[in-house]
Amino acid sequence: MLKSFVSTPVSFPHIEKTNLLGLNRQELESFFSDLGEKPFRATQVMKWIHQLNVNDFAQMSNISKALQQRLIETASVDALEVVTDQLSSDGTRKWAFRMADGNCIETVYIPEDDRGTLCISSQVGCALDCSFCSTARQGFSRNLSSAEILAQVWLATRLLNEEQPTAKLSIERKITNLVLMGMGEPLLNYENVVKAIDVFLDDFAYGLSKRRVTVSTAGVVPAMDRLSERHDVQLAISLHATRDDLRNELVPVNKKYPLKELIAACHRFMEKRSPRSRLTIEYVMLAGVNDSEQDAKELIKLMQGLSVLINLIPFNPFENSGYKTSSNNAVRRFQDHLMKANITTVIRKTRGDDIDAACGQLVGKVEDKSRREKRFINPRFGMNS
Ligand code: SAH
Repeated sequence: MLKSFVSTPVSFPHIEKTNLLGLNRQELESFFSDLGEKPFRATQVMKWIHQLNVNDFAQMSNISKALQQRLIETASVDALEVVTDQLSSDGTRKWAFRMADGNCIETVYIPEDDRGTLCISSQVGCALDCSFCSTARQGFSRNLSSAEILAQVWLATRLLNEEQPTAKLSIERKITNLVLMGMGEPLLNYENVVKAIDVFLDDFAYGLSKRRVTVSTAGVVPAMDRLSERHDVQLAISLHATRDDLRNELVPVNKKYPLKELIAACHRFMEKRSPRSRLTIEYVMLAGVNDSEQDAKELIKLMQGLSVLINLIPFNPFENSGYKTSSNNAVRRFQDHLMKANITTVIRKTRGDDIDAACGQLVGKVEDKSRREKRFINPRFGMNS
């Protein structure tokens, strides 16, 4: 079923409406100050939008009728259009959302006993070209705006609450954790991502603890340094290989920021963190490629002096990927090696694979501006896909 949460068409076509969904508190305060209003209007409206999930200014009852009318004329809370809504047998839910320009992105909700994690996209497609990732095959179109990043959380909140009608002024918080692990490389869309994080952490909006927001990066070193100055959120590094030759192939951004620089950046990032915090290392398990005992030993060496949690991700296959998932035994052996070296290592449970919602399976609908789909050749097997 096609549902639309895009607000009603602009009734004053000469006025460009401001989408309040994408503004952090500071920006909302200047928006209201431009209207000649007091700054506290910003926190009032933030609560309505992000805590109570309201997009209709006429419902914002602690705001005067006159100001409601001005907001109706000058502003909007524009979310995205729901194209598909799929539920996996394990409870994972995946949506495809369409944006105004026709591109689609995917967002995944993963319920667990003690938390609900929303995996959000930061770009339409991805420019990084990791050889084992199906998002990469789609090519790259553009960065998401902060409004489009926040709209995923706003809309998922609404869709998750539709199942259980709630009292008017209380929205059940089913989303307790946010991970920027959907389509795209968040640190290549730095400004919009950090602005969205402002809102995730703001007590007048989602009010999430910094431990519950994770940015996952393939290793864009300068942006890791910038992020550490701005937000104390969790960082996950998609490492996947311990030697430059192999990492150049799996994660080509390694040619620009090789392992030595990446690991040094990880140390810098962690120096600014509390001693109890840990960096997450993501390591996709590819049979015969990076899953040997030697690889485990090299990983242990590389992690020396860093406080890390290693996440082993069984490779999620897709058509013509050219890779195979490591056997359960190989994954467990790899984990044992790391655990013996006192490195906490968990095997990431594959969720939602029956609806292609697992890591690296998000594809959306991307108007590819990099023409990658046409030129893609698997570097390992030389196949055209
Ligand atoms: N660009 C960011 C975030 C998106 S990918 C990054 O690279 O971290 C989120 C995670 O899924 C990354 O660790 C990525 O390497 C992993 N991933 C991508 N394709 C995968 C696949 N087919 N199987 C398992 N994990 C995959």
